[in-house]
Amino acid sequence: RVPVITIDGPSASGKGTVAHLVAKELGFHYLDSGALYRLVALKALQSGVMSTDEKKLALVAINLDVVFRDEEIYLEKKQVTEKIRTEECGNMASQLASYPAVREALISRQRAFRKLPGLVTDGRDMGSVIFPDALLKIFLTASPEVRAQRRYKQLIEKGLNANIAELQKDIQERDARDSKRGVAPLQKNADARLLDTTSLSILQAQNRVLEWFRECCAD
Ligand code: C5P
Repeated sequence: RVPVITIDGPSASGKGTVAHLVAKELGFHYLDSGALYRLVALKALQSGVMSTDEKKLALVAINLDVVFRDEEIYLEKKQVTEKIRTEECGNMASQLASYPAVREALISRQRAFRKLPGLVTDGRDMGSVIFPDALLKIFLTASPEVRAQRRYKQLIEKGLNANIAELQKDIQERDARDSKRGVAPLQKNADARLLDTTSLSILQAQNRVLEWFRECCAD
């Protein structure tokens, strides 16, 4: 089987950064599954589909014309790499991600990223639903304060507007919604290893994942 490393965890925990770096280090493919939910959100917002319309949102997910190339993301041939990172898209993504029909529509698209020599992926249900036979499963988290600071820095670096108090509120609301929902709730599963990065640097977190991966390969 093609080896897969899954890194699930809450929003703004740094899981995307760590997953991306680990993929680079190992020469593996990388899937940011949250980007798919954000792309459905962006397309829905552009076409005026309501956040309550499960059927139409699932159709948007099924028909999504998206290309991941180099470090960029294209929706209908237009580059939207930064556009999907706004809090508006994040909130809409979190709402539509609670619909089973939307999640179902994105399954095969996500599994298609599993190619040799391997895949590193991050999200909420990568280890539990999408790649249950992954070689290494990690639940990566950090305190809400540290996560708000990390998201703030990320947005400012991208030249986007940000307010730390608002971000913390958004993060808490998103956590509550992501953990309470009936499908794929945000939680650490028994077979995932916990990686709390509150007081770890990115490099330390990356090295921990690589150590665990080598352990798994040796087993
Ligand atoms: O990780 P990110 O913040 O980009 O994800 C945006 C939203 O998409 C999350 O709040 C979550 O509700 C949803 N999501 C999900 N399952 C995934 C990835 C993201 O439900 N595998």
